[in-house]
Amino acid sequence: RKLENQSMIEAHKLAANFYSHLLLNTVEGEKALQYLEQRGFSREHIENYGIGWSLDDREVLSQLLQRKKFDMKEMEQAGLCIMKNDGTGYFDRFRGRVMFPLHDDNGNVVAFSGRILSDSKEEAKYLNSPETPIFEKGRLLYNFHHARLNVRKTGKVILFEGFMDTISAERAGIMNSVAVMGTSLSDTHLTKLKRIANQLIICCDGDNAGWEAARRFAILAQQKGLDAQIALLPGKMDPDEYITTYGGEAFAEKVIGNPHSYMSFTMAYYKRSKNLSHENDVLQYIHEVMEELAPKVSPIERDLLLRQLNTETGVSAEALREQLTKTVGKIA
Ligand code: ATP
Ligand code: MN
Ligand code: MN
Ligand code: MN
Repeated sequence: RKLENQSMIEAHKLAANFYSHLLLNTVEGEKALQYLEQRGFSREHIENYGIGWSLDDREVLSQLLQRKKFDMKEMEQAGLCIMKNDGTGYFDRFRGRVMFPLHDDNGNVVAFSGRILSDSKEEAKYLNSPETPIFEKGRLLYNFHHARLNVRKTGKVILFEGFMDTISAERAGIMNSVAVMGTSLSDTHLTKLKRIANQLIICCDGDNAGWEAARRFAILAQQKGLDAQIALLPGKMDPDEYITTYGGEAFAEKVIGNPHSYMSFTMAYYKRSKNLSHENDVLQYIHEVMEELAPKVSPIERDLLLRQLNTETGVSAEALREQLTKTVGKIA
């Protein structure tokens, strides 16, 4: 790493320690501590993940950095401070948020994600550091440095949409998971994962956005040559909510332990919005599934596909086979 970034890394280390101190040892941090406890965090977990609290105060961190003789222009570039409009000084980027440090592959804190305490319509739920010389969203995966060994050992990695889900999974004993910061999965992310794993289990939220993300992630992972499976959650739950509701064991066995193949996921994806007792929906469902899967499936999968479609729709196996042959012919 370039030497010139060293002070940005040092500043993040200082900031993380400061936020952690505010959360654990001050009266101002009590509300945030309560919030985390409510969400099932123990003191030990809070310390392990380096979680902290940024005061509502406008400039405590900026003042601390200034006292420690950090170059404030550089601190602005590092995403920790923002110059005041009148140019007379700096205020803190993060205020009144639960602070989650983001680590690079060497375990250095290089950025933060800050969560507000109560969901409101006015303010973004999470505020992330901007892209900086030490933080690229398209490169960083939450928990990568920590999960790396376990991923190598098992050859398997679980990918979540939100870092809260990774933390919950670890509390449930699943130690080989990472999360993207936001929803885009980059080629760089996949290259990193492919170097240490051959199997990827994608586990996104159960809401619409989550289904769409799972589909995008699965397609990208397959293009990259990873064996991708998709773990699905009931209703609109996200992994963290599932674990809180049904426990870590159920999550490990029923969700992560029972992932769908790409084919099975694709069928579920198209079936989701349909009522298969309506003829129109049946026609559209069969059409969508075949268009997507016909060029991709092996002969065995093809057989399974036809049998499942037959069971789900009641359309005869012969008609389905004929339709599939036509679809393959049209695509080829
Ligand atoms: P929580 O359980 O605390 O509500 P979550 O992980 O369930 O958080 P989601 O709303 O599912 O959060 O979003 C998943 C991820 O998307 C988050 O981890 C965060 O990285 C990103 N994200 C969500 N909302 C925002 C936002 N308003 N601004 C920036 N990033 C966001
Ligand atoms: Mn979501
Ligand atoms: Mn979520
Ligand atoms: Mn959540």
